[in-house]
Amino acid sequence: MLNIVLFGPPGSGKGTQAKFLEQKYQTPQISTGDLFRYNLKNETDLGKKVRAYMDKGSLVPDEITTQMLSDELDKGKSPNGYIFDGYPRTTSQAVALDKILAEKFNEEVTVTVALVVDDEVLVQRLLERGKTSGRSDDVNEEVIRHRITEYYTKTAKVAKHYKAQGKWVEINGVGDIDEITEKLIAVINEAMIKED
Ligand code: ADP
Repeated sequence: MLNIVLFGPPGSGKGTQAKFLEQKYQTPQISTGDLFRYNLKNETDLGKKVRAYMDKGSLVPDEITTQMLSDELDKGKSPNGYIFDGYPRTTSQAVALDKILAEKFNEEVTVTVALVVDDEVLVQRLLERGKTSGRSDDVNEEVIRHRITEYYTKTAKVAKHYKAQGKWVEINGVGDIDEITEKLIAVINEAMIKED
């Protein structure tokens, strides 16, 4: 199995790249943001619990997020693995993901690829996306900046977890979408060779 973690701040292009990788490797994308939005839209109990966090641009508590991810993986094992988009976002989630993959599938994260993009580019991309995405958290600059702050205060330190495992690679997330996809594929292919 190939278990890719796509890492990076909001607006760095994780979702865009996940779609290409999903096709290329036949590994479903698991986006915790999309799962939360599905629950918001359908007004589930989970949706009601997380709305206030998401509206503010704050991270949802780890326990709720990890439970949702674990439930999603219980829906049926993907034979080729997964692309994790937006999870883990805290060190506790990274530890949980290792444990979940080991316990459910006897597997581990193959590699974590971090998309690096300058903050002001992120803000501009998200405001632009907000014009068409229908996402309320993309419209308000204050919420966008709060999401980026959450990234630097809570998420960026997850790098340490993967660096310690030799599973951290950074790539420049600014440039042609196709070129970024090519760089991602090169990193993933190399990690697959190393794993064998
Ligand atoms: P973006 O990367 O553009 O911020 P996402 O769609 O990944 O967007 O996430 C949207 C929101 O969903 C986040 O601001 C946060 O409230 C919540 N969320 C998503 N994934 C996680 C996670 N792993 N841990 C905590 N909260 C999360």
